[in-house]
Amino acid sequence: MKEIAVIGAGTMGNGIAHVFAQFGYNVQLVDINSQFLMSAIKTIEKNLARQVKKEVLTQKESEETLGRIKTVEGIDSIKPADIVIEAATENEKVKKEIFVKLDDLMPDKTILATNTSSISITEIAAVTSRPEKVIGMHFMNPVPLMKLIEIVRGLATSDKIYQEVEELSKKLGKVPVEVNDFPGFISNRVLLPMINEAIYALMEGVANAEDIDTVMKLGMNHPMGPLTLADFIGLDVCLQILNVLFDGLGDSKYRPCPLLKKMVSAGYLGRKTGRGFYTYE
Ligand code: NAD
Repeated sequence: MKEIAVIGAGTMGNGIAHVFAQFGYNVQLVDINSQFLMSAIKTIEKNLARQVKKEVLTQKESEETLGRIKTVEGIDSIKPADIVIEAATENEKVKKEIFVKLDDLMPDKTILATNTSSISITEIAAVTSRPEKVIGMHFMNPVPLMKLIEIVRGLATSDKIYQEVEELSKKLGKVPVEVNDFPGFISNRVLLPMINEAIYALMEGVANAEDIDTVMKLGMNHPMGPLTLADFIGLDVCLQILNVLFDGLGDSKYRPCPLLKKMVSAGYLGRKTGRGFYTYE
């Protein structure tokens, strides 16, 4: 595998493109307009400069990495690739439309992967004529720093494709974990109920936000408390994932905390809006 395409140049897409290019792959980075692509390239340049400063890469390697990334405006202008990783907006309709197009535009041998956090891989695969070649590659944010990839097998994903994607993930210096297609995979199924419980504890007045976070940081050795982490992820994203768990698994233990719902309704979405459980400059 040599030719990679990444659909969506947002937070995750630019990180995924960065990592593939850093490890010698040619990358087409696709988004709907040139503004998003320009801002993705700026972010990649900034992150590469940081790697040079930390002596992870040399200046020459950083320039070569950037040289391997080609921006593509609009999915219709994409060229054949060995694997496509879709990292577009988390919306089922948007993703299904992209997969129908990719199935049409890409050669039969191309693997179609998605970085979705919560949408069923099996359902996405079902809109294509190659469900055995559709797979989840769930990278973590920030992609250049985080080691984990959850490789999610849809019901129809073949063993051969799973193995190829596992090998590819290792070549990126990542640690792949095999997961079957269930709501929230492993990462969000375990993480979000913890965050939700922390929000319940806050709502019920068990302790204030700082103290809840301190308990989990100093008591459990977590690098970040659950409420700080929720602000970082985005409270709207947390709510959306909890809804996926609640609907998909049908167990009341996943019901989103009313305080979380209220904060999202008020537009307090965490870091990105300057206000969540904490306030940000
Ligand atoms: P984002 O909003 O930052 O970026 C999404 C990008 O996709 C945007 O630039 C948008 O213009 C582009 N896009 C939308 N429709 C498109 C189309 N038809 N063709 C090409 N580009 C299109 O979102 P993100 O946070 O990078 O998330 C992307 C995916 O990664 C989602 O599925 C999300 O669930 C998943 N994910 C996110 C995180 C995270 O921490 N942000 C972590 C793991 C997985």
